[in-house]
Amino acid sequence: MRIVALAGGIGGARFLRGLKEAVAPGDEITVVGNTGDDIHLYGLKVCPDLDTLMYTLGGGIHEEQGWGRADETWSIKAEMKEYGVGPEWFGLGDRDFATHLVRSQMLTAGYSLSQVTEALCVRWQPGVRLVPMSDDRVETHVRITEDGTPKVVHFQEYWVRLHAAVDAEAIVPVGADTAKPAPGVLEAIAAADVILLPPSNPVVSIGTILAVPGIREALVAASAPVVGLSPIVGGAPVRGMADKVLAAVGVESSAAAVAAHYGPELLDGWLVDASDAGSVAAVEEAGIRCRAVPLLMTDVAATAEMARAALALAEEVRA
Ligand code: GDP
Ligand code: CA
Repeated sequence: MRIVALAGGIGGARFLRGLKEAVAPGDEITVVGNTGDDIHLYGLKVCPDLDTLMYTLGGGIHEEQGWGRADETWSIKAEMKEYGVGPEWFGLGDRDFATHLVRSQMLTAGYSLSQVTEALCVRWQPGVRLVPMSDDRVETHVRITEDGTPKVVHFQEYWVRLHAAVDAEAIVPVGADTAKPAPGVLEAIAAADVILLPPSNPVVSIGTILAVPGIREALVAASAPVVGLSPIVGGAPVRGMADKVLAAVGVESSAAAVAAHYGPELLDGWLVDASDAGSVAAVEEAGIRCRAVPLLMTDVAATAEMARAALALAEEVRA
């Protein structure tokens, strides 16, 4: 079976770790990773979501944090501070720096982001084929008002420096409208037997991937069922700022509203958490097959159960 999943960082990576447990040997998983969170710092290209996917699936992640490397040290950051060079709010550890150095060196030498990602994965062996959504530069920006001043900040600044404490007024995936899907993305979607939307952020993770012209269209046209899992449980994100960015695009923070936001054209099946069983009927009325199952990724076994439920719903839709 060929499975394609679109994914952001933590929510995507943790789900995929469960999916790997749930699939049969020989099944192939292609992961299309969000690159809208990418940021250039100190002349280096940092790809937070691709790295979270790679480190989580490859066994190098800082588990509690959900980003960055395990057993990290911070000498470079301390040295940068001595030089008065920031941003201080962005945490890049020494081990993590090596990844960004290798990536940036290869990009400077002329390799594409998808080639670089493949090369980094030779070390990490994530057990999936990890492909960036695009080789072209896309950067999610957020319009806010800070201390009475309207401004636009990089998504990382909104999340990491401001902790999403101010309202997001608009989300702009800068560059997405002219970006091309990375080589292999459309082909993988067209050849897939199942397409999954993990419980990643519907706006700044999955939404950004869908904003690359051709990708949403390919999902709609795909013969494979498209099944998603809600990142919203009991009216709130399990972690992160999905409520803030959903509000910015006029979508209520509920499992049913996120399903309706993706829409029945895109989505064939939707899983909501058991505690949201009351919204199953509304989702089905919207033309999307829906089931309520436990959706908390408390450990890999629980997450594998979620993945099995998603694959079962895909089979049900196909039949
Ligand atoms: P990010 O790029 O690191 O923000 O990660 P993603 O976009 O892939 O995933 C973020 C989303 O994962 C958030 O909206 C969370 O609500 C969701 N999430 C995190 N943990 C869980 C969980 O245990 N269950 C569910 N259903 N969603 C989760
Ligand atoms: Ca992200």
